[in-house]
Amino acid sequence: MLERARALDAGDPLAAYRERFTIPEGVIYLDGNSLGALPAATHARMAEVVRAEWGEGLIRSWNSAGWIDLPQRIGAKIAPLIGAAPHEVIAADSTSVNLFKLIAAALAMRPGRKVILSEPGNFPTDLYMIAGLEAQGLAERRLAGREHIAGALDEDVALLLLTHVHYKTGALHDIAALTRAAHDAGALALWDLSHSAGALPVDLNACGADFAVGCGYKYLNGGPGAPAFAFVAGRHHQALQQPLTGWMGHAAPFAFSDDYAPGDGMTRLLCGTPPILGLAALEVGVEIIAGIGVERLYAKSQQLSKFFRLCLGELGVDIPLASPADPAERGSQLSFRHPEAYAICQALIARGVIGDFRDPDILRLGFAPAYLRFEDVAGAARHLAEVLAGEEWRRDEFRDRAAVT
Ligand SMILES: *Cc1c(COP(=O)(O)O)cnc(C)c1O
Repeated sequence: MLERARALDAGDPLAAYRERFTIPEGVIYLDGNSLGALPAATHARMAEVVRAEWGEGLIRSWNSAGWIDLPQRIGAKIAPLIGAAPHEVIAADSTSVNLFKLIAAALAMRPGRKVILSEPGNFPTDLYMIAGLEAQGLAERRLAGREHIAGALDEDVALLLLTHVHYKTGALHDIAALTRAAHDAGALALWDLSHSAGALPVDLNACGADFAVGCGYKYLNGGPGAPAFAFVAGRHHQALQQPLTGWMGHAAPFAFSDDYAPGDGMTRLLCGTPPILGLAALEVGVEIIAGIGVERLYAKSQQLSKFFRLCLGELGVDIPLASPADPAERGSQLSFRHPEAYAICQALIARGVIGDFRDPDILRLGFAPAYLRFEDVAGAARHLAEVLAGEEWRRDEFRDRAAVT
């Protein structure tokens, strides 16, 4: 198994990219889908931004270091990863806040309709952001299971809001088909790409998508709490109104007018002053990922997860898969069900294999293709086999949920 893994690593066209990341010795990192690894270049870039741009340039750096355009500049670099034009994407705020802005924008574009349709079990923040608008009397939340989404689209639905890759199972939605169904019902479609961007190809414009949001700190390696991104199809830019009308989204912020006038295109998605340090770190991650190209990342991610299952098979591990078995139907993760998933996850972490647990019984392992080796995958499979075969996960320290946050 290890031999085969090493042969695969030797033939891996992305093998050299591992050097571009800082991975601690002895760690097999299977949580890049939750917090992407640190790019090696981020150290120097952050030091430079702090020392030269902030420290010496001071306020002049808004122009001399190009801070003022950073949200648009990074957006343009994210665009090819999601099938968008450069002027259709901006890096700003958190995914949650971007959801709020775009849900509200969709409601304004569909007067007379209040329903936001999503699915039960969608990522909590997506559902909560709808609920917040519902509590204000501005929206009405409707949830329909995966099989019933198209049937739940009617003349009351303003927006279909779904996550492309399900955070627990990795199951995919068909962006093209569901966007078409939403449009046929007169609704708009907003896609959450948090587990897609930088891991698998998405073609928003070919699918006719209206809006999208996604995370900067997962497969884009922007760092903890990195700014998120938002996409609005160019055809909607003129009409787009979002309610967080802060001064940075103004057409002329430094005219200091009493009256709001929205900036051109995606600029009006901005609210307050952009977090330059966070954006600087995000830019490094985005450049590496965009430089590799999402097609190559996707090809390797599929190989990695297939190889993991092959290793488990050879080791005789029988643990039910919660993800689709066909790699074409899932994102870059494998989730397994086990009643003791929590303790198993803790036992793996104690061995240096970092994955995560999702309530109630999911062990979730992410395969970030930019820096994971096949050797890591073989090692993780061996550790999982040992943990399952032994008694180690029964230890109190791994089972006591209060002990570990
Ligand atoms: C991780 C994730 C988020 C995170 O939102 P934040 O506002 O950055 O906390 C949102 N949606 C999905 C689907 C996610 O997986």
